[in-house]
Amino acid sequence: MNRRQFVVIGSAGAASLFVSKNAAAFAHTATDNPISNPALDRLPLLFGVDYYPDQTPEKLWEEDAAAMAAAGVTNVRIAEFAWALMEPEEGHFDFRWLERAVGILHAHGIAVILGTPSAAPPPWLTQKYPEVLMVNDHGMTLSPGARRFTCPTNATYRRLSVAVATQMAQHFASTPGVIGWQIDNEFTLGDSARCYCRYCREGFEGWLRAKYTSFDAINQAWGTVFWSNTYTDFSQIPVPLPSGAPPNPGLALDYNRYQSDANASFLQDQLTVLRKLCPSHFVTTNNVGGLIDHLNLRDLYRNLDFVASDNYPGFFAIYEADASPTPPPEALAATVAFSHDFMRSAKDGEPFLIMEEQTGKSGQPYFSPQPHPGQLRLWSYQAVAHGAMGINYFRWDTADFGAEEYWHGLLRHDRSRSPGFDEVQQTIRELKSLGPEALHARYNADLALCFDVDSWWALNIQPGQPHLKYPTEMLTWYGVMGASHAGIDLVDATSDLSRYKVLCAPVMYIVTAQQADRIRAFVKGGGTFIAGFRLGVKDEHSRIVDTPLPGLLRDVMGAELLDYQPIYTEKQSVQFSGELTGPDADCRIWADILTPRGADVLATYTGGDHSGKAAITVNHYGQGKAIYIGAHLEAPDLARVLLTLMAMSGVTPLKLPTGVEWTTRTAGGRSWTYLLNHTSTAQSAEISGNYRDAFDSSALTSPVSLEPYGVRVLVSAG
Ligand SMILES: [Zn+2]
Repeated sequence: MNRRQFVVIGSAGAASLFVSKNAAAFAHTATDNPISNPALDRLPLLFGVDYYPDQTPEKLWEEDAAAMAAAGVTNVRIAEFAWALMEPEEGHFDFRWLERAVGILHAHGIAVILGTPSAAPPPWLTQKYPEVLMVNDHGMTLSPGARRFTCPTNATYRRLSVAVATQMAQHFASTPGVIGWQIDNEFTLGDSARCYCRYCREGFEGWLRAKYTSFDAINQAWGTVFWSNTYTDFSQIPVPLPSGAPPNPGLALDYNRYQSDANASFLQDQLTVLRKLCPSHFVTTNNVGGLIDHLNLRDLYRNLDFVASDNYPGFFAIYEADASPTPPPEALAATVAFSHDFMRSAKDGEPFLIMEEQTGKSGQPYFSPQPHPGQLRLWSYQAVAHGAMGINYFRWDTADFGAEEYWHGLLRHDRSRSPGFDEVQQTIRELKSLGPEALHARYNADLALCFDVDSWWALNIQPGQPHLKYPTEMLTWYGVMGASHAGIDLVDATSDLSRYKVLCAPVMYIVTAQQADRIRAFVKGGGTFIAGFRLGVKDEHSRIVDTPLPGLLRDVMGAELLDYQPIYTEKQSVQFSGELTGPDADCRIWADILTPRGADVLATYTGGDHSGKAAITVNHYGQGKAIYIGAHLEAPDLARVLLTLMAMSGVTPLKLPTGVEWTTRTAGGRSWTYLLNHTSTAQSAEISGNYRDAFDSSALTSPVSLEPYGVRVLVSAG
C-alpha cells in the first residue's frame, strides 16, 4: 500500500450521515431487482486473508495454513508483489515456491486467488529497460524501488507484464485450489497519478486520431485558436506538462480520459490472456473506492467479473483528524459508506469483494488509530451492508521489514495473535452463516447521487473558486442524503434512472446531451431532480456552453442564470420561503443567481448585489419536479433543505440515533437489514415491521438494542 496520496477528500467533517432528526414512519420500497451475473453464481463463499509466502520463511507455511483453516479462513490472495521471485531474470520463470505454497494451502482446504505482479517490477527489468519508468506531471522520471512507477502505455512494459501473467496462467490454470485472479494491484494508488512520457505522448496522439476525425476537429473542440495553439498536425499536440500557464482545459480533460483508458487497456492485455488460459477462474482487480481521481473505475471494471475493493477506515480517520481533533463518528462512517457505494455502483449494483480489509493499526509512514474493540467487526458488517459478498483481511501476518512494516495483520511482528484476531474470527463465522443468498442480495437504493469523473476532472482543471472541490461537495451531499437511510447509488446519469425517487447532482459541471436526456426522462416520469450550483456549465469537450446556463437543462429546471458569483469576502445570505421556510443561511464559496422561467422560488439572496434574486427554485416538469439549489450552503443548512425536499418527494427519513446506520439488501422476496452503531455508546433503535434476528431467529420488537460499535442483522419475517 502506498498511501501518501491515499485520498483527496478535503474536509469530510461536514458529512452528517446518520443524523436523522425527523420522526416519521419508515416506508422503504423494496426494489427487488435481481442480479444476473453468472460469474457470481459460481463463486464459493470468500472470507480470506491476504498472505505473503514470498515474505515468510517456508518452514512457517504449514503452520500458517493450519492456523488459517482453524480460524475459518476460506481463501488467500497471494503473489501480487512477487515478480522478482517468479522471474528472477528475464524469461526464466520459477514457480516452484509458489506451487509449494498453493499446495500446502490447498491441503488445508484454503483456496487461492493469484495476483499478477505488474504493480512492482524487479530491478533487472528497470535496469535493462529504463524507458518503462513513468514520467510524472512535472516531467520528472520516477525512480524504481517502490511500486507503481511504470508507464501504462510503454510497449516493453506491457509485453513483460503480459509475459509473466501468461506464464503464471499456464502454470496454474489447472492447479487444484486456484480459483481466481487479481490483475495488478491498486491502479488508483500511485504517488503520481498519470504518466507524461514520450510513449504516452505517442499514445495520446493515437487516441486523439481515433476519437477525432482530424486535427481541425480538435482545434474546433478545444478552441485552440486561443493563445495561438492551432495545430496543423497531430504530432504537434503536447501532453499537459508544466508550461508558461495552465493548459487548454479541453486538452487537459482529454489527457485524463486517455490516461484512464491507457490503464484499462493495460489491464485488458492481461485479462485477455487469463480468459483464454484460465476460463474456469474469475478475474478482478482491487482499488480503493472513490475520491481518487486518476481513473474511471467503471471502465476499469467493465470486463471483469466483479469489483474488488480495499477498505481501510483508519486512513480516513487520519485525514479527518487533520480537519478536526474530534471528528464525529458519523463522519468517518459516511466516508467509508461512500467508498463502498462507489465501488458497488462501479458495476451497477452488483456485489463486490473486499480484497483488503483493515485488521489493526495500518500505515505507511504513519500508523492509523488502533481500532476500538468491536470496530473491526462493525466495519466488516458495514461492507456487507453496502453490498460486499466476501472479505479478505489484510493481512495474515505483519512484515518486520519493508515499507509496510507498520501495517499490522492478524498476527503481530512476533507472530502472536493481534488484538483483533478473535473478533475477525468471530466475524468470519457469523458472516458465513448468513449464506450466499444474503451475501449476493441487491442493495436497496431509492436515491441516486450523480458522480461523474468528467465533471470531477474538468472542475479540478478549472475550479473557479479555490475552495470549490468536487470530492468535498460529493461527500457533503452524500452525508446529508444518507440521513434518510433510503440507500444511495452513485450514478453517472448515462443510463436509465427510473428506479430512483430522487436524483441529486451537486456541481454537475459538464452535462452531455445523453445525460440531459436521461435526466429529462427521469423528471418527466415522476422523479425529483435536485441540482446544485455550477450545473451544465460545460459540454463534453470542456467548452463553456454558448446558451444561458444551465445549458441543456434549462427546460427541465425552468430557470436560467442571471449571473454567477464566486464568493470570497462578500457577505451573502439566503432567505427561505414556502416549504423551506426556516432560519436564514450563509452562502459561501459560490452563488448562482437564478431567474425563474416557469419555476417557483423557494429561497432568495439577501445582502450583496443580488439581494432579492432567486437562490433556490422548483420547477414542475412532466410528472416530476426539478429543484435548483444555486447557493452553496454549509452542511447543516444543506441538510435541512435537502431532507425537506426529499420528504416532499416521498423519501421520509427513518428516525434513528445519530451515528446509527440502516441499510437493506433484498433477494427473492427476502430482505436482510443491517443496523450498525458507529458510536462508542450503547444505542437503541426504533423499528417498525416484522423482523427476526438473523443469527438466533428470535422475533425482534422495538426498540432494538445496539452495543457500542454493535451490529444487528434483521431478517424480514414476512
Ligand atoms: Zn508513459
